[in-house]
Amino acid sequence: MKIVKMTAFNEMSIQEEPIPELKEGEALIKVKYVGVCGSDVHIFEGKHPTAKPPMVLGHEFYGELADIKSTNVTGFSIGDRVSGHPLNSCGYCEHCMSGHENLCKNVSIYGVHKDGCYAEYVKIKAERLVKLNKEADPEVTALLEPLAVAVHDIRRSGLQAGEDIFIIGAGTIGLMLAVMAEYNGAGKIILTDVDEKRIAFGREMGYTVLNALDPDYDAKVSALSGGKGFKRVFEVSGTQAGWDNMTKACGSGGTIVLIGIPNQGFKVDVVSVVLREIELKGVRIHPYNHFRAAAEILNQGKINNKLKKLVSRVYPVENVSQAFKDIHNDKTIVKALIQFS
Ligand SMILES: [Zn+2]
Ligand SMILES: [Zn+2]
Repeated sequence: MKIVKMTAFNEMSIQEEPIPELKEGEALIKVKYVGVCGSDVHIFEGKHPTAKPPMVLGHEFYGELADIKSTNVTGFSIGDRVSGHPLNSCGYCEHCMSGHENLCKNVSIYGVHKDGCYAEYVKIKAERLVKLNKEADPEVTALLEPLAVAVHDIRRSGLQAGEDIFIIGAGTIGLMLAVMAEYNGAGKIILTDVDEKRIAFGREMGYTVLNALDPDYDAKVSALSGGKGFKRVFEVSGTQAGWDNMTKACGSGGTIVLIGIPNQGFKVDVVSVVLREIELKGVRIHPYNHFRAAAEILNQGKINNKLKKLVSRVYPVENVSQAFKDIHNDKTIVKALIQFS
């Protein structure tokens, strides 16, 4: 089978490898599309603390069920459109037992700690399969994993219908959060960014997007929340400026969900956190139940037209290196997909 191997930082080559063999409890997926995640680009460019070449990137994928060896997982047929939760965990620690396997000490994420899905076939645990609607738009189906990120982050925030939300960072995840918040009945959805192209695109998607560099920015944020600050704030930018803005935008008793991965040494306005009883919540990928919830949302199809707008480009696998170059250079690309078959 074809695999895309990161052979060195900033270098990829298409190689041949045997198709993985299945053991009991495993399933084989013939990959159709993979999504290029910001974290893939991070690893590719040598900015990730641990992931190093040679390795196969990728954790966003779906395809066709090619084979399954499981006595207890039923309801799947060869040829079904499926994906799999892209992380393995021990299965017996307190986190795994309580449905938070994303927090397992021994978690290994596809394309980070183990070879990922930039390959013609991917092997996963049969119990982590999800079935996807065969008739749905293939490009929208390919957004399952980032949608699961948004499902998890919105649920972590405790968002209730009618509440206004504030999202710092209008890239792929910021926009996914906006779409999911809309799906969950949020009131006003406000995003903020510093990149003109992203700001313009977010507005095209129908959202209010502020420019954080605007001299009246603070006054606008305050006015939009009626002077009280927002109840649910999402920090996606992973920048110190975002961290400064998040406590300013958050109201007393509010919740901030931290998604963008900060550099060490970031400062947070602890006085606001303490005296205004702000809750800070981290997130790490998603547990399987939120991945499955995302699959169900895609299968309902209610937000698929909106999600489709996030797909900027599709590259055949032969052009995978070009895709990484383009993403590095062109901020108008929200989501790029690689087509395998
Ligand atoms: Zn991702
Ligand atoms: Zn565990």
